[in-house]
Amino acid sequence: TSIGPANRTPRTAETHPLTWRLRDDAEPVWLDEYQQKNGYAAARKALAEMSPADIVATVKDSGLKGRGGAGFSTGIKWGLMPADESINIRYLLCNADEMEPNTWKDRLLMEQLPHQLIEGMLISARALKAYRGYIFLRGEYVDAARNLNRAIAEAKAAGLLGKNILGSGFDFELFVHTGAGRYICGEETALINSLEGRRANPRSKPPFPAAVGVWGKPTCVNNVETLSNVPAIVGNGVDWYKSLARPGSEDMGTKLMGFSGKVKNPGLWELPFGITARELFEDYAGGMRDGYRLKCWQPGGAGTGFLLPEHLDAQMYAGGIGKVGTRMGTGLALAVDDSINMVSLLRNMEEFFARESCGWCTPCRDGLPWSVKLLRALERGEGQPGDLETLEQLVNFLGPGKTFCAHAPGAVEPLGSALKYFRQEFEAGVRGTPSETRPGVAASQV
Ligand code: NAD
Repeated sequence: TSIGPANRTPRTAETHPLTWRLRDDAEPVWLDEYQQKNGYAAARKALAEMSPADIVATVKDSGLKGRGGAGFSTGIKWGLMPADESINIRYLLCNADEMEPNTWKDRLLMEQLPHQLIEGMLISARALKAYRGYIFLRGEYVDAARNLNRAIAEAKAAGLLGKNILGSGFDFELFVHTGAGRYICGEETALINSLEGRRANPRSKPPFPAAVGVWGKPTCVNNVETLSNVPAIVGNGVDWYKSLARPGSEDMGTKLMGFSGKVKNPGLWELPFGITARELFEDYAGGMRDGYRLKCWQPGGAGTGFLLPEHLDAQMYAGGIGKVGTRMGTGLALAVDDSINMVSLLRNMEEFFARESCGWCTPCRDGLPWSVKLLRALERGEGQPGDLETLEQLVNFLGPGKTFCAHAPGAVEPLGSALKYFRQEFEAGVRGTPSETRPGVAASQV
């Protein structure tokens, strides 16, 4: 995992708060080097000079939004933790179950900058009065687990974790918990169930984890990249953080963004909010490889809707891509080239989502396999009249607000947009339609 070579501007502490400490050789930055690069200065400031309420207010004012994909305000989420001082068992969970297809940004942060995440969690725990934290880590991220555990041991030995941290009287213990490989574990309440040793079914919300979280206690769940932003915000202040984004941007700070697919320079870069998808695609990813044409793209993971080349001028925002309406998701975009048949691509995606459904609520458990059945038939050219309408109904029945969690709505967002923009490819799969009208490659190649 590395930061993309096409990063034109040199990374500095002033402009690239998340990535400036990365080493060119992609080795982890251990404690000595991290401290030489001003590491834990923000934690020292937070513990010595700021009250928990000051830290919450700073993060709220910074405009930081969750970087896991949903873009909910971090400050508002933090502000929902109960004010009742008598509740002294509170948890901070780091959602490191990065399993969104095509997303590997948190992996970079954990493998190479483990202390930045630990410092972010320490400051956040102080703000939230959490006495214990868990990093719920995707099980396959074995290098991240090893590096985080080593960094936690280093921090503990240096008095940066454990009892009476830096003489402040604040105690915070931090543990890595590795998952066993289910996509749904990244949904925050399924994550909580899994951490408790239960089956990873999502819980109904409300109550939100701030009220009833892990082992029934107030809990805050934040993504790796979100927490990794906290040291720089606390260290350098709100005005500086806001100034990182392009003028007029509705989101603040920077974001790890990427592009993959048949682009010239697939990669990951720390970029200011307000940047357009076209800059990301052309200036950083280098556009399409010779011989390939951009057919459509997804802005941030399998659960985000497809957009057309003409949408590239939209800005990348946490809440949505410009005015187009699709969520940005994780911000790691995928270029789909013109050799790809959309029915085959969607069949592949919906097979993934159907397999990863926890089966807890009926629309998701039954609706996703139904979509797979229809897509497989359309892919073979054996679809029936009415199949497209049934797929459209499924997009509606599985949409936002109709299921326990965001899994099914995420699964049908790409399907709905593919039906909207590439309907003729689905129609070509209805029995009786000549197969030469079906563009793209064989199913096995997708
Ligand atoms: P969500 O919008 O339901 O919630 C986002 C966060 O905001 C949660 O922490 C939730 O508790 C909080 N929240 C939302 N409304 C609230 C309210 N009224 N009061 C208090 N808190 C509130 O989304 P989600 O289900 O947490 O996440 C869905 C996103 O996850 C998708 O956008 C997808 O892009 C992303 N995702 C990411 C990965 C990955 O590997 N990073 C994997 C799968 C999905």
